[in-house]
Amino acid sequence: MAAEMPPQPHAVCLPYPAQGHIAPMLNVAKLLHARGFHVTFVNSEYNHARLVRTRGAAAMAGGAGFRFATIPDGMQAPSSGEDDDVTQDIPSLCKSTTETCLGPFRRLLAELNAAGDRPPVTCVVSDLIMGFSMDAAKELGLPYVQLWTASTVSYLGYRHYRLLIDRGIAPLKDMNQLTDGYLDMPVEDVPGLRSMRLRDFPTFIRTTDLDEFMVRYAIKETERAAGATAVILNSFGDLEGEAVEAMEPLLGDGNGKPKVYTVGPLSLLAPRSTSSTIGSLSLWKEQEECLQWLQGKEPASVVYVNFGSIVVMTNEQLVEFAWGLANSGHHFMWVIRPDLVRGDSAVLPPEFLMETAGRRLMASWCPQQEVLDHPAVGAFLTHSGWNSTLESMCGGVPVISWPFFGDQQTNCRYQCKEWGVGMEIDNNVQRDAVTGLIAELMDGEKGKQMRKRAEEWQEKAIMAAKPGGSSHRNFDELVRDVLLPKTGDSAHGVTRD
Ligand code: UDP
Repeated sequence: MAAEMPPQPHAVCLPYPAQGHIAPMLNVAKLLHARGFHVTFVNSEYNHARLVRTRGAAAMAGGAGFRFATIPDGMQAPSSGEDDDVTQDIPSLCKSTTETCLGPFRRLLAELNAAGDRPPVTCVVSDLIMGFSMDAAKELGLPYVQLWTASTVSYLGYRHYRLLIDRGIAPLKDMNQLTDGYLDMPVEDVPGLRSMRLRDFPTFIRTTDLDEFMVRYAIKETERAAGATAVILNSFGDLEGEAVEAMEPLLGDGNGKPKVYTVGPLSLLAPRSTSSTIGSLSLWKEQEECLQWLQGKEPASVVYVNFGSIVVMTNEQLVEFAWGLANSGHHFMWVIRPDLVRGDSAVLPPEFLMETAGRRLMASWCPQQEVLDHPAVGAFLTHSGWNSTLESMCGGVPVISWPFFGDQQTNCRYQCKEWGVGMEIDNNVQRDAVTGLIAELMDGEKGKQMRKRAEEWQEKAIMAAKPGGSSHRNFDELVRDVLLPKTGDSAHGVTRD
């Protein structure tokens, strides 16, 4: 008798509900789909509604072997009349997902298994900071993989909060320590991290109260990863190998579990799908004219400015950036999200608009990777979110970094100090500093060296992601050794023989 075909594997992918987490998880989902998995991609109801607005209902209806599902995020819905296309408050969202999402996620898995029109769920790939999902996956005996969407060095930064506490460096004695030079204190001998100062650790530790939710959450989630079947990182060995080596023993039970795989940059590894179903999941509508505007511009002549999906600034800071850009004399493309400016809409001085009329494009959201891949872009003024950091390397573009919060400070430190691709701008941004750094990066010797380094990283990233490269091999191994049901697995009756 012919051997029975193994049932199709079914991966449930659960990102944390924010842009910088959805995009890398979507790339994991695309990779699994391309390897024959049925995929259920789980968005929050809030984000699903936004995605229906930006992409259309048809695209969010799903396609062959790729479905979308939703769970509530537990946040209070914005009251009617409020603009609901805004970034949700991150600490509130972390608290809310941790406290409310396990039940809905458990029910979703049960529904998927009962549906009958798709294969039973065979594995869960969850964002590491959605660690509640571990319980649901384990109850069903499913392989459970966590995706850490930030840098490995920032994982270590969070994980070593305990070390800062044990050494008496944290908590702060009082809030004056934020500004009196205390944060500049070097912190030495931190396993896996180099030349760190207190200010380079993810920012939630800058507190006088260790009971604050984000401190406890960061410690809990990064430690909880030890219970995953495997952890995958959107990074690559040449870039963060040393940090990965330091991470493994922190997580492990000493028997190589959970295994840690670098599978990045995921944007290079994942198939560039043209399908409208799984093309991209942008919470804002991308303005394609950005790419047209770049056409025909001199190579490396444009400064690209974008602070990602979460940063908020004051209008004063916005105006300093504006004049800094104007006074640089360079062409620039500046993406200002509708909710970039705190509590208000962005107001730019009319003189600035007049002065820069022929050499700027203002937009509200763009296809960033494509912009950074465009030869006309010479520098990237960024907040150093991890996706933006990787995307700038993939495009071979050096950066001016204005880190805002969380892991961005750690990424910035590494960009400037270890990877040789960036220069930092002071938190108290001043127009002259912006102009000076742009001049240095676009026209100076330092800028040339940084561009060269960025191009070297670009080459290494491409090598890691192509067949035979480390990330490519790791992904194959992850699928074979962890995600595909093993012969004899009987979770939900999934048997392959
Ligand atoms: N992004 C984009 N268009 C924009 C701004 C951002 O496509 O106009 C994407 C960007 O390419 C990246 C993500 O949004 O993949 C932002 O993630 P990141 O980790 O850089 O920062 P976060 O938004 O999480 O702070």
